[in-house]
Amino acid sequence: MNVASLTIAELRRSYLSGDLSPSEALSSIAVEIDQKDNAIGGYLSFDLDRALADAANIDLSLPLGGIPIAIKDLINVEGHPCSCASKMLHGKYTSPYDATVIRKLREAGAIPFGRTNMDEFAMGSSTENSGIQICRNPHDTTRTPGGSSGGSAAVVAGNTAIAALGTDTGGSIRQPASHCGVVGLKPTYGRVSRYGLVAFASSLDQCGPMTKTVADAALLLEVISGRCDRDSTCLNEDVPSYTGAVGKDIKGLRIGLPAEYFAKGLDPAVKDRIEAAIKTLESLGAEIVPVSLPNTEHAVATYYIIATAEASANLARFDGVRYGHRAEADDLIDLYKKSRAEGFGEEVKRRIILGTYVLSSGYYDAYYLRAQKVRTLIRRDFEEAFQKVDLIVSPVSPTPAFKLGEHHSDPLAMYLADIYTISANLAGICGISVPCGTVSVDGKALPVGLQLLGKPMGEIDLIRAAHAYEASGDAG
Ligand code: GLN
Repeated sequence: MNVASLTIAELRRSYLSGDLSPSEALSSIAVEIDQKDNAIGGYLSFDLDRALADAANIDLSLPLGGIPIAIKDLINVEGHPCSCASKMLHGKYTSPYDATVIRKLREAGAIPFGRTNMDEFAMGSSTENSGIQICRNPHDTTRTPGGSSGGSAAVVAGNTAIAALGTDTGGSIRQPASHCGVVGLKPTYGRVSRYGLVAFASSLDQCGPMTKTVADAALLLEVISGRCDRDSTCLNEDVPSYTGAVGKDIKGLRIGLPAEYFAKGLDPAVKDRIEAAIKTLESLGAEIVPVSLPNTEHAVATYYIIATAEASANLARFDGVRYGHRAEADDLIDLYKKSRAEGFGEEVKRRIILGTYVLSSGYYDAYYLRAQKVRTLIRRDFEEAFQKVDLIVSPVSPTPAFKLGEHHSDPLAMYLADIYTISANLAGICGISVPCGTVSVDGKALPVGLQLLGKPMGEIDLIRAAHAYEASGDAG
């Protein structure tokens, strides 16, 4: 049996029935990684001995007792390397502390196991910007797994992990989940603590689960959510029973259909899958209601101003002095320049330059300030839509997973493909990608994800609808 192909729920049952112990499970997953991950590149590293030490004395009655969770390489785990897939930190930084999400995982009995590949500092939609290694889609290794949490999606989809954590600033949980055929949930901004996550764009970043099933996502979310006195943007609200939403029917749930998300640019085969999934939701008792999100056309531009502005500030700390790579240099300015020139990859440099430009005096009002105003309009679009509906349904990505190298010479084409995911981050709402079948491309079956978006703190409805859809069997 390949233990790594199990869900969290299945592995728990094997533990509780005595069929498997956590150390047996970890050893078996390590063999699986050794055999399969060379072809995929989903892991940057893993440390079996450390995980086995963590597994000793674990209380199996805890909600995640003995469950290994793969961790995106920008989340700090004490004693583990944390490189953000950047040459700036690779081999040069070991985390001195646990992020709050890791502390919560440990309190629930989970074992952080393995560091997953990603776009450098989470900037990208294909994991091709990893400064360390290529990551491939397990459904077709000539294609990308999506990004930036491409490694987390690929190891869950490729059965070399039970479940993983990712982060989503503009779609980086949902889009790779969609391209790899796994479940990915981006929580409401403030639902999950950001303490211990290496920041990309602090007003947009959220950490969330990437799993094989909706029930597993609900369980992980329940564990990692909740207040944290080390992150002032983390909301001071109780965590409801997300697992309790699994199995509830969706009769009478109103689901909004935004016309703007079905306009030109959407691949016809993807559109067919999404429309079939919407029919299924309707047959399960949901009421489909047309809604409008008129500022959608401005979302990509708004996001790429705000995210790059915040990134340029957040990445200033990588100066050759405080963390990571330090170049040989004659004086301090030279040290900054050379360390950053050598440590950062092309896309990270592009973002820092863009972000510095939109914040510079003379351009601040025209770009950054205006983008903040449009962000408010985008949030209001959702507020208005959510007066009428409980959830919104849409595609996650306009196409299935694209070929490695396809967008290499045209970063803008890749930015534009974020159109369906980034508005949720700008508005601070929650969203999920749930597998909704496959489309056939060049003889390969490529997964498609259905996106459901919920109100702020509306994760219960997301889980309820995503689970009802998953249980319908429509995805095949
Ligand atoms: N693809 C988007 C970007 O490149 C989103 C990244 C993310 O969510 N981390 O910025």
